[in-house]
Amino acid sequence: MNTAMHITPDMAGACYFEFEERTVSRNSEHTDESVDTATTHDTPASAARGMSLVDEALVGMATSAAASSAPGDEVGTEMPPIDPFATQWTEFDLRCRDCQVVHYVPICLFVNAEESPVLVQRIISEHFNLKRCPVCRQYEYVEHPYSYYDPARTLIVQVRPEWEWHAGGGDDWYAARLEDLFDKWAEHDVKIEVVFGPQQLIERFLQDVPPPPARR
Ligand SMILES: [Zn+2]
Repeated sequence: MNTAMHITPDMAGACYFEFEERTVSRNSEHTDESVDTATTHDTPASAARGMSLVDEALVGMATSAAASSAPGDEVGTEMPPIDPFATQWTEFDLRCRDCQVVHYVPICLFVNAEESPVLVQRIISEHFNLKRCPVCRQYEYVEHPYSYYDPARTLIVQVRPEWEWHAGGGDDWYAARLEDLFDKWAEHDVKIEVVFGPQQLIERFLQDVPPPPARR
């Protein structure tokens, strides 16, 4: 029963840290109303496919979005139909890496450029999906995948965290993510692309976005 007696302080610290991290991840997912896939997480099959919790959350969202549009489905019957092309937000509880405070952060998952030109300007000026710690006031970019949708070009670009590429993801990872994205949008007439980091999005697709109108 008393297994804790055999754990050294260092080990206990490590375990505690891991537990904390996992708890935060789970909380993050639970705060997203459209994601209800907690029970399917951490399965060996998912791990074998090299999916992160974030990826699984995205897959879960795609699944629940698809499910909620089907009549008679038990999930989301009380929700109005979701416009898959609408700008979409979620909420996370994230921990400040400096003062360890966990605080609420709204994160944009899907940017419709026509609907939300202000968000496009924020992406360009690197003020997009920032979290600000309420205690130490530090700003930090939240590297959560999001999708940029340009209705004029019928183009959807998924912006992945830049570290995925550098962490040995490379071409195979890119191809796999592109395939996921293709599956997600197969029923829609859109072009798709995957980039790693907002800078790639800006350099490749946002060069001709006009500057915001000057305030008078
Ligand atoms: Zn802080």
